Amino acid sequence: MKTVDIVVPCFNEAEVVETFLAETERICGQIAGYRFSYIFVDDGSRDATLPLLRKMQQENERVHYLSFSRNFGKEAAMYAGLKHTSGDYVIVMDADLQHPPALIPQMVKELEAGHDCAAACRSTRDGEKGLRSLFSSLFYRFSNSMSDVKMPQNAVDFRMMTRQMVDAILSLSEVERFSKGIFVWVGFDTVWIPYENVERTLGTSKWSFKGLLKYAIDGITAFTVKPLKLIRNFGILLCGISLIYILATLIKTLIMGIDVPGYASLLCITLFLGGTIQLSIGVVGEYVAHIYLEAKDRPVYILKETDLAALPEGAKDAASGEDAKEAPRA
Ligand code: UDP
Ligand code: MG
Repeated sequence: MKTVDIVVPCFNEAEVVETFLAETERICGQIAGYRFSYIFVDDGSRDATLPLLRKMQQENERVHYLSFSRNFGKEAAMYAGLKHTSGDYVIVMDADLQHPPALIPQMVKELEAGHDCAAACRSTRDGEKGLRSLFSSLFYRFSNSMSDVKMPQNAVDFRMMTRQMVDAILSLSEVERFSKGIFVWVGFDTVWIPYENVERTLGTSKWSFKGLLKYAIDGITAFTVKPLKLIRNFGILLCGISLIYILATLIKTLIMGIDVPGYASLLCITLFLGGTIQLSIGVVGEYVAHIYLEAKDRPVYILKETDLAALPEGAKDAASGEDAKEAPRA
């Protein structure tokens, strides 16, 4: 009997967790030869998610939960969940049923066929707001042109992985985590399973535009330093042009005397250079901020409550925030 741990980040998902479990159990119950367990990660929900998880855990011995001291974000929730897995395979999926459990049997088949990972990708982005779709496609285009880590645009965080791949993911110990990139960075053989986008019927999306913008900037700065090189190259180019302009102006002044007009060109150049310098400092600042946050080496999450004493030995060691950044188990 092979074991599969399903990691489910939950933030204010009281409306849907029970339906999620029932639906997933119904599908997984039909897969012979596998034992499915659940690790729900309550990411500091302010609704009834935690009491519900406690109740679900009491009713079903294969349900486990972790609960954070506050909202640490989906990345932290996924990381905590992965750290507490011990199964031969691990599935990561959202609680809102936007990741159809019906894909799990196919994922199991792909892993049986010898692949390291079976990941879902949306075949359409229907149902997504126009502006979000546009920014999303801009982000992927920009990020992929900058970085060696090419992220498929329609990939979602719904995938089944081997233990080996999960351990590789956990070995990346950065505090500021960007899983979409990490999944690609660790390599391994991934098959893509397309599915039709499902609209959320229960609860609401937890993303704000500001949150997505931060996510996008983090995604780019986490996997490439090309923006730094771009501004350096741009600086070199500007210096070259300035030098020519300075020489030309000097010569012209020497030959033809001082020429008073020039307000417009002066203003344009000053504004342009000011803007460029500001932008460059901003880009450098973004990286400095990351160095700062990584250097503080704070735990990725702080655990307040869990039932995981019931899990096999090795899985327990991450049950405190302090241990949250420990190297993965061998
Ligand atoms: N989520 C989380 N912490 C957060 C935000 C979201 O654990 O701070 C979870 C959420 O409960 C859900 C998943 O991440 O299971 C995806 O969130 P959501 O459905 O809001 O995102 P969307 O599907 O709109 O991208
Ligand atoms: Mg969703």
